[in-house]
Amino acid sequence: VLPVEKPGPALVVSLANQKGGVGKTTGCVNVGRMLADRGYSVVLVDSDPQANAGIHLSVDVVACEDAEKTLYYVLKGAAKAEECLVETRNPRLRVLPSSLKLAESETELAAQQFSHNTLRSRLADLRRSVDFILIDCPPTLGHLVTNALVASDTVLIPCQTQPLAFMGMGTLRKQIDFVRERGNPTLSLLGIVPTFYSGRTTQDQATLKDMHDTYGQEVHIFPPIPNTTLYPQSSAGGDALVAFNAKAPGIGTFDLVVQTLIAERDRRIVPAGHGVMT
Ligand code: ADP
Ligand code: MG
Repeated sequence: VLPVEKPGPALVVSLANQKGGVGKTTGCVNVGRMLADRGYSVVLVDSDPQANAGIHLSVDVVACEDAEKTLYYVLKGAAKAEECLVETRNPRLRVLPSSLKLAESETELAAQQFSHNTLRSRLADLRRSVDFILIDCPPTLGHLVTNALVASDTVLIPCQTQPLAFMGMGTLRKQIDFVRERGNPTLSLLGIVPTFYSGRTTQDQATLKDMHDTYGQEVHIFPPIPNTTLYPQSSAGGDALVAFNAKAPGIGTFDLVVQTLIAERDRRIVPAGHGVMT
């Protein structure tokens, strides 16, 4: 792996779905680690008050909160994003941690004018100095998610292959359209990652087919991530699954996501032969 010579400016990617437990955090942690392992500098912005992304990567989120160095304080303007970053076991992957306090941002953002731009402006400097910023969204459709989408170049939707799971997709896509109209017209939908796939059950096969029939024409659908306890085990082990087992089920899909993100960054941000453009 060759280190990337000129870091930044970053491609900003949200992993979003208003349902919880669909694999957003798992996706962020593994894709972030894989990009870092390839030599890119990556910041994972944990925008879920449950702080799962940081905890999964062994970040001491309580210490960060005690020091008032979490996303809550960044959104308030009381801390700079750069001051809050915590290195993970691959130091090229750093976390901007969350804490339960972030839940208060929902109402605080609601009270501000032009609040949908807050995260975008708070990340502006950081964006110039790293290669990728991944935003782990909370399982809501509130202000934190709007802020994440306004700050993003592209959005990836992890979605369980279960009948009720992809019913919320229409609502999420409406919010993406809303954000495009509200000042981020180039926000793209990178694709859907089907998760928790039990390929031996006819129900999951049918749901995956349904997903392709409904969205496959207009949205890229990645190969499904199998349902395996290796993922929860890796969070107990304090690192991304790929760090323990690069050949684990689903890692191939994350690798495709990584390749797509690198291509998207090259296409949007670093025109061939022109070095870094701002
Ligand atoms: P979200 O961030 O959307 O709430 P998570 O990524 O935290 O979802 O996943 C929810 C739980 O499911 C976690 O405990 C995680 O380890 C586990 N998990 C994630 N992906 C898989 C998978 N493919 N198979 C089995 N368990 C998984
Ligand atoms: Mg999560």
